[in-house]
Amino acid sequence: MRNLLAAVAAVVSVAGLVVIGGTSPAGAAPVCAVDYKLNQWSNGFTANVTVTNQSAPVTSWNLTWTFAGNQAISSGWSANVTQSGTRVSASNMPWNGSLATGASAQFGFQATYSGTNATPTDFAFNGVSCSGDQTTTTTPTSTTTSTSTSTSTSTTTSTTTTTTTTTTSNPTGCGTAALCDDFESQTGTAPSGRWTVGAANCTGQGVVGIDSSVAHSGSKSVRVNGASGYCNHIFFGTPVSGSGPLYGRFYVRHTTALPMAHVTFMAMKDSVDGGKDLRMGGQNSALQWNRESDDATLPEQSPVGVSKSKPLPTGQWNCVQFTVDPAGKIATSLNGEPVEGLQADGVSTPDVDGQWLRKTNWRPAVTDLRLGWESYGDGANTLWYDDVAVGSSPIGC
Ligand code: CA
Repeated sequence: MRNLLAAVAAVVSVAGLVVIGGTSPAGAAPVCAVDYKLNQWSNGFTANVTVTNQSAPVTSWNLTWTFAGNQAISSGWSANVTQSGTRVSASNMPWNGSLATGASAQFGFQATYSGTNATPTDFAFNGVSCSGDQTTTTTPTSTTTSTSTSTSTSTTTSTTTTTTTTTTSNPTGCGTAALCDDFESQTGTAPSGRWTVGAANCTGQGVVGIDSSVAHSGSKSVRVNGASGYCNHIFFGTPVSGSGPLYGRFYVRHTTALPMAHVTFMAMKDSVDGGKDLRMGGQNSALQWNRESDDATLPEQSPVGVSKSKPLPTGQWNCVQFTVDPAGKIATSLNGEPVEGLQADGVSTPDVDGQWLRKTNWRPAVTDLRLGWESYGDGANTLWYDDVAVGSSPIGC
């Protein structure tokens, strides 16, 4: 019965493989155990890997495996993850190389794939197979209500039942931020609690839901299926307050590059600008701020201005940090780097904030934060948001 349950759960998109106790030469003690947890969607996934040293203490380690399909790693963390063809090598960082007997290291990576995303079966730790005795076990690592169509094809016969714990990370760097939400407490199909779903003007095909198969932290995020065309606006939002500069930080990933047409993915009501929105989104395929009241853009949409902004990378989690200063200034960073074209510093710079600063009395006082998708013509996109924080001091990535 447990095998049946495991098999059923594995089909619901989040599956993990626990390789128990590989052996070095026959009869020797197991050298390693690997816990390989996936969060996957239609054409990509992240893997969180825990490797446990079950042999003598080591001061450095290298875990290798082979992908059975066309998985292609785009980035890794907490290990140096490299790929050559289907072969992958993950070696320790300077700070997690020493593993006593029984100690574990965790690392992760993000990858794309198509077709089947089979779990590797040939993990080797410092050159010694982790699966020599073939006692592999498939277990569900988390329960999920995802409607993802991805499936696990792992058909390994269970010989041991092992329960793994799904760890939930708290949002990082929130400090004392008034708003700091990783969405792990959401239990419904749509964001609730502090969050309200909708759009002030008109809604149509846009959909907002809690996604249990894609997450920056933990196992949940908010997914926005944004449709093109006016009146498909959709957001999830919450009130924010404060009298000084407002610092925000959120993680966003999306499937489709920002279009040439104007789109918005974040909006904040500016109570002293006629209640109109201060928006962050894109135009000419690059990030921009836009002020609804006068349609000014930051940067200016000249070729030079656009070149001083950046596209929003697809298929990865992006950290967006912003400051909205009541003194009439804006600062913006993407993945930890300030974006030149997204700074309104109060001193007019041609192609950047020249147009923005023509409204000399703009003194923003925003009262809410909404994340979602607003197209004014073209541009459909699927986006995920996680680890959203707003406070009165800078919030790190
Ligand atoms: Ca989360």
